[in-house]
Amino acid sequence: MAPSTGLVCPLCSVNLAGNPPDRCPGCRGDLRPLRRVGELADRHFNEAVRAARARHWGVAAERLAVTLALAPEDVDALVLLGKIRWHQGQRENARSVWTDALRLDPSRQDAQAGLAHAEAALARGATRSRTRARTNHGRSR
Ligand SMILES: [Zn+2]
Repeated sequence: MAPSTGLVCPLCSVNLAGNPPDRCPGCRGDLRPLRRVGELADRHFNEAVRAARARHWGVAAERLAVTLALAPEDVDALVLLGKIRWHQGQRENARSVWTDALRLDPSRQDAQAGLAHAEAALARGATRSRTRARTNHGRSR
């Protein structure tokens, strides 16, 4: 079973599966503003997907920043942001974003694959940049 995406009524914390209704089934609170926030997050996410397909990484990252400001636990947005950071050559950043995605949903295979990739690349980079000379302070009398 997929973990809940955690959309709850901000008024009474009842769990709202899928699209929130106009009124909370728990407290009858007005959920239309909440739904608009969700729709706005979705719209920016879809724009990010389009930009990423066109390899416009900067635009895609901007759209995802908006999505994540509105929906910080949007795993799809985090996974895509990791891919964009990777394409931008920001490997540390990609690793940290994919790590966040996996913290929210450990079963995401795309995030697992990306993270494994990033760790391997970072490990190679670390080996290559390790220039400290091996010194041998032998004890002499
Ligand atoms: Zn409620």
